Amino acid sequence: MASLPGPITELITALTHLPGIGRRSAERIALHLVQAEAGESKLLSEAILKARETIHFCTTCGALTEKSPCVLCDDPRRDGALLCLVERAVDVLSIEKSGTFHGRFHVLGGRISPLDGVGPDDLRIAQLEERLKREPVREIVVALGTDVEGDATSNYLARRLAKPGLKITRIAHGLPAGTGLEYADELTLSRALEGRREMT
Ligand SMILES: [Zn+2]
Repeated sequence: MASLPGPITELITALTHLPGIGRRSAERIALHLVQAEAGESKLLSEAILKARETIHFCTTCGALTEKSPCVLCDDPRRDGALLCLVERAVDVLSIEKSGTFHGRFHVLGGRISPLDGVGPDDLRIAQLEERLKREPVREIVVALGTDVEGDATSNYLARRLAKPGLKITRIAHGLPAGTGLEYADELTLSRALEGRREMT
């Protein structure tokens, strides 16, 4: 790409850092943007900045939101007895899209991974325990990925959170083995939720 002007090369490099955008797509998008009407690039850059500035993590559940607590935490029609535990904020969106779950959420912010130096204290587990003290949760639905770290984290949580009167279930049924929730389609996810099993 030595023949391209510097600013285009910089734009391509920045775009390749985005998830799902390979070198070829980055080049196509960059070349489109520099040739499109000035208004189009301006609109895109403003939308990126606005979203980045106004979207935060909900202080209660950890989902992405404009205001905290978020609409999911704030909605009185949602079942406060059911709490779905997910790894990342985007997993909330996947489960919401499946349309099967009507409880509340808690985002862990990752999973236990000794190899990457991620321990329980790096996750939002203390915040979860605080919520369990003040919210009427009767069932925790553990919805982590089905790979080794997802399994280890789920088992750790089931042991740590266990207490009388609290059911801890895990979705797994039909989820592709060794993957995260983003790879499951809506039907698979809703079946996985319906087929959740109690952890012992
Ligand atoms: Zn929330």
